[in-house]
Amino acid sequence: MSTALSRLAPTLLLVPALLLAVAAPAPSSPPPAGAEESSVAGIRSLARRLSGELLQRGDTMAALEELCRVAPRRLSGSASADRAVEWAERTMRELGLENVRREAVTVPRWVRGERERLVVVEPSLYAGQELPILALGGSIGTPTRGITAEVVRVTGFPELDALGREGAEGRIVLYDTPMQSALLDPFAAYGQAVQHRSNGAANAAALGAVASITRSMTTRVDDHPHTGGMRYREGVERIPAVALSTAATDRVSSWLAKGERVVVRLELDCRTEEPVESANVIGEVIGRELPEEIVLVGGHLDSWDVGPGAHDDGAGSCHALIAAATLKRLDLRPRRTIRVVLFMNEENGLAGGRDYHARVKDELETHVMALESDRGGFAPRGFSTAVEGKVREDLAALVEGLSELGAGRLFMGGGGADISPLARDGVLAVGFVPDPSRYFDFHHTTIDSPENVNPRELELGTAAIATLIHTVADLEARIDGKPPLTDRD
Ligand SMILES: [Zn+2]
Repeated sequence: MSTALSRLAPTLLLVPALLLAVAAPAPSSPPPAGAEESSVAGIRSLARRLSGELLQRGDTMAALEELCRVAPRRLSGSASADRAVEWAERTMRELGLENVRREAVTVPRWVRGERERLVVVEPSLYAGQELPILALGGSIGTPTRGITAEVVRVTGFPELDALGREGAEGRIVLYDTPMQSALLDPFAAYGQAVQHRSNGAANAAALGAVASITRSMTTRVDDHPHTGGMRYREGVERIPAVALSTAATDRVSSWLAKGERVVVRLELDCRTEEPVESANVIGEVIGRELPEEIVLVGGHLDSWDVGPGAHDDGAGSCHALIAAATLKRLDLRPRRTIRVVLFMNEENGLAGGRDYHARVKDELETHVMALESDRGGFAPRGFSTAVEGKVREDLAALVEGLSELGAGRLFMGGGGADISPLARDGVLAVGFVPDPSRYFDFHHTTIDSPENVNPRELELGTAAIATLIHTVADLEARIDGKPPLTDRD
């Protein structure tokens, strides 16, 4: 018995039913003393079997390559997003999922357009050079002649405030706000820096600026700009907003540091059109004993409009899809229903996550757990949840069984944006946690492509997710500590 297992044993003994029913191999008679160990051994054995299957077959990578080929740049409301919905529904049927359906969702439609240029006017030495930008999702365009103005650089909102209207009015504000490389968790570094992308235009416009430029959200220094969402503020002038590559941001900043005056011309014809109808795509493996109780697994089908969207979130969508399909193919039908939900519009609105919540809000007690994969297709490290107490201990005991896949840790953290409305209403929300080191190398760029996904790492993620959802769906008692549906009303 490992140290970890002996530490967990008291927890498990308090819930004798919890681990008795995990898959492969299920005991045919009441298990003898020490059943907790053999049940954890059961999780390990299922993890081994599923990882062996997936590493050999490569189903997740095949699905991801197909999705990225059929529907790259699948921003909500685009023709490519429609193709992604069709692909998901067809693929779910082909893979034998049950109750396959679409649920209509109204989504915004923002169009990047053809013209997207940031041209240097001064310093005269570099006049005419183009700097690599991407308009931020939701940005308005510029007049046809563009916007030509002097650039003023700030390192954050306090510096913008210090600049005041006098320093910002009529100028283009450049937020040179790097993600902090020294932070252990790149997602924490993103969380700190991303406010300058989200709110930079509104804050600059409040002081009279005519456009805003934000340093791309990555710790890498290269020439790939990273797009992403931004929002305007009621009552504040709307001004165009773009992301500049980190290398180009460093160049402009170096000119300013030398005392040069920097003037640029920004030309954009992006625009917001009328909302359109799209869909979440849903398929299930119906539970063999408690079909009304649901373990949800999902990712988001939409991506930004500039690349294939492989890590964000083709990987998570295919994790969910292939995890369920593999259980179905191997006839590992758990006690409860596994429901795959591929959400639409995570990137610029969360309409899919909100719509799903609205549809199930009167029956939330049917949802035993919701798991989202939206942190890329990298090597698994574990899972995250914000829940505390006994439910956390029980979940940690199961997750520990995934240690051979590298996925044995239960981190403190959220589940995912699409399932956050469910989490707010008390559904146990869990996030898949892969290695975070390289996620922001590719996030929201043209290079978020399948070539930058390691097939082995991707399949191991699917194996970890499939093992966990099967185990949770097959437990005798609900992992969330709530009474079974059959005991109610
Ligand atoms: Zn995402």
